[in-house]
Amino acid sequence: SLPKIYAITPTYTRPSQKAELTRLSHIFMLLSNLHWVIIEDANTTTPVVRNLLRQAGLSERSTHLNIKTPVGYKLKNKDPNWLKPRGVEQRNLALNWIRTNVNPEQRSVIFFMDDDNSYSVELFVEMMKIEPGRVGVWPVGLVGGLMVEKPILNEDNTHVIGFNAAWRPERPFPIDMAAFAISTDLLFKYPQAQFAYEVERGYQESEILRHITTREKLQPLANNCRDVLVWHTRTEKTNLVSEVKLNKEGKRSDE
Ligand code: UDP
Ligand code: MN
Repeated sequence: SLPKIYAITPTYTRPSQKAELTRLSHIFMLLSNLHWVIIEDANTTTPVVRNLLRQAGLSERSTHLNIKTPVGYKLKNKDPNWLKPRGVEQRNLALNWIRTNVNPEQRSVIFFMDDDNSYSVELFVEMMKIEPGRVGVWPVGLVGGLMVEKPILNEDNTHVIGFNAAWRPERPFPIDMAAFAISTDLLFKYPQAQFAYEVERGYQESEILRHITTREKLQPLANNCRDVLVWHTRTEKTNLVSEVKLNKEGKRSDE
């Protein structure tokens, strides 16, 4: 049978949330071996997310959790996005859930699937090729100030020998969160592997990967790292000036 893929998505309430999650849910509807671990950055789970999972037919193939980012670590409305790490608490809760609920004997893969990126279905087909004990890697589009950030391979295309990153290339793993997926056996082998707040900007990926792999052991995928199957797109902040005026009159456009 196909290896299961656990896609881990931190998410938070904002005007575009339902649009983002709808886009993602359609990938799950196309791939039967995907399980969605969706973690709301909130004190409770919300009906928006719960109803979306149900309407997409994903109630049985999803795990709906919540944990709020501590106030001191939360971005303020006007803060630049990079000021604080995002999704740390939520991804760590998902890792705990996986370590508690997933059968270590069964082949599976975990992937950190942020809610605003753009994913090709083919990316998930590539992840199914990840060997036990390995971390699969591939290019990511529109990130790090480049059209494509990607691993550089040896002549035989068997090993990663470097990265083309322009931003902070000195990082141990200068790649985006969307650039890799992990064979789940590594999570059981290295129980200390997780994310942390007290790491420099851009070092979350290195923070988890340094526990579980080395550059030499990475498994290149996506046509020898030549195909772009995921893009680090970002959604602009929604303009609701007129909605705010309506609200002041006691009305709203989405009743
Ligand atoms: N996120 C969250 N709480 C927040 C901000 C972000 O749970 O306060 C989630 C967000 O929904 C996304 C992930 O964390 O799935 C990464 O956030 P974002 O896409 O804003 O980061 P970037 O694109 O800058 O890496
Ligand atoms: Mn993002």
